[in-house]
Amino acid sequence: MLGSMQDYPLRVSTVIDHAAKYHGKRPVRGRSAEGPIVESNWETVHAKAKKCAQALARLGYGRGDAIGVMAWNTVRHMEVWYGVSGCGAILHTLNPRLFAEQLDYIINHADDKVIMVDADLVKLMEALAPRLPKVEKWVILTDRAHMPETTLPNPICYEEMVAEEDGDFEWVTGPETDPCGLCYTSGTTGNPKGVLYSHRSNVLHALTALQPDCLGGSSNDVILPVVPLFHANGWGLAYVSAMSGASLVMPGRDMSAAGLYEMLEQGVTATAAVPTIWLGMLQYLRANNLKFSTLNKVIIGGSSCPRAVIEAFQNDYGARVIHAWGMTETSPLGSVCTFKPEVMALDEAGKLDIQTSVGHPPYGVDLRITDDAENELPWDGKQQGKLWIRGFGVVKRYHNKDEDAALPGSQWFDTGDVATMDPNAYVRITDRSKDVIKSGGEWISSIDLENAAVAHPLVAEAAAIGVAHPKWDERPILVIVPVGDEKPPKEEILALVAEHFAKWQVPDDVIFMDELPHTATGKISKLELRKKLEGIGYH
Ligand code: ADP
Repeated sequence: MLGSMQDYPLRVSTVIDHAAKYHGKRPVRGRSAEGPIVESNWETVHAKAKKCAQALARLGYGRGDAIGVMAWNTVRHMEVWYGVSGCGAILHTLNPRLFAEQLDYIINHADDKVIMVDADLVKLMEALAPRLPKVEKWVILTDRAHMPETTLPNPICYEEMVAEEDGDFEWVTGPETDPCGLCYTSGTTGNPKGVLYSHRSNVLHALTALQPDCLGGSSNDVILPVVPLFHANGWGLAYVSAMSGASLVMPGRDMSAAGLYEMLEQGVTATAAVPTIWLGMLQYLRANNLKFSTLNKVIIGGSSCPRAVIEAFQNDYGARVIHAWGMTETSPLGSVCTFKPEVMALDEAGKLDIQTSVGHPPYGVDLRITDDAENELPWDGKQQGKLWIRGFGVVKRYHNKDEDAALPGSQWFDTGDVATMDPNAYVRITDRSKDVIKSGGEWISSIDLENAAVAHPLVAEAAAIGVAHPKWDERPILVIVPVGDEKPPKEEILALVAEHFAKWQVPDDVIFMDELPHTATGKISKLELRKKLEGIGYH
């Protein structure tokens, strides 16, 4: 016997339908690919998404076809976001910051049949095109006046393509388990791996995110997603904003602190990005003596957020920080740092300590930590082990692979992160397992070392790395990027670190570099950094 409730599939088209019908006039605005700020709203985004879906269907694309989209965060990208999945196809987000070989690989591996690309990224695509035999159509995301000269065969102008349609189109329906989105991890080792989201996982993930003890969301929010839509399912924000009927401000391609500040001052109340963006923003605010007029929530994730950043936003700029952890493989939310009553009872310093953790799992996410033999470890806030996750938004098997990525039966997925959990289930990520520094058999958290170092006002960025040592196996060193030309004294940085660490955990040396290598999603690439260090004699 089944329950006798309606069969109402959880498809993402219901999300944009809801936004258009019940929050239709709420502004969706943003910096366009062409330059000027454009005004739209959920009703218009919905109407254009329908036309986009209709056009793709007319061209012969539908259920199960993969369509690659390489675009900055713009209003047009939102139309395409819902248009592609609305015609039944799979929205495959492409990160322009990936290496060319990685892009070739993922476009071929995903079997993308159509590529939709921003006009300023056309040159990048032209270089790849000869190695993409399966791509049948190229759509340039602009209007006729801004169509670039291109060697791409038979380029289609997006605005012309949608203008030919009347929008009288029924979203393609099917089971909620149909694929709807595809995102590849940036693959710091080996080839990138594809995570194929379903309509169901995306809808449930957005509902999860909207819980008050998660990201929270309201039709009163004005959200600016700095995090690109091509990074880890756009952190779910394209769905979260439409589902809650929030207003959206899209930043376009300009990720400079000045450009983002200008957009944040368009009435934005909530925003989200990786810590590097916020480190740059804080420097900019200080240098120019600026404040925010409306911003009150900053979601920070993707890498560990230093305490100094949380403190600055909250104490100096009136915006509450929500520190979150997640992965492409987890849709991406895994845990979010909001306050349970036990934390509310703490003083300000105690609360701040908790905010350097990545918080607790929301409903829909299950976590555990284990030792290497898979024995569960206690939640004492001290013992660290492998962090595992399962839930409706967690990958079961990577796209086009023969074996499950999660454990058969129990569905636990090994995150590759090392963490502790405290008695209130607050998780602290201490390392990625491949970055762990083991000195004399004891672990030293590279993340904690880095966060302690960036508290120095002259340190812009820090990376802690284990280098080989004859006696201790490995010893930590710190690689520092100074804020300006002036290098802070090494002793000063080490003294600052020593305030939070046992003597044997303090790094042996500090090395200065002009910049650190980053991955395509803005994380410090320890792999590249190790190669660089080998070049100057550190192994
Ligand atoms: P990619 O591997 O493609 O860069 P992901 O976004 O999937 O992209 O990376 C997920 C990893 O990022 C996590 O496994 C974890 O190591 C790291 N991470 C994400 N958020 C945090 C955080 N708040 N603190 C520490 N590490 C984080």
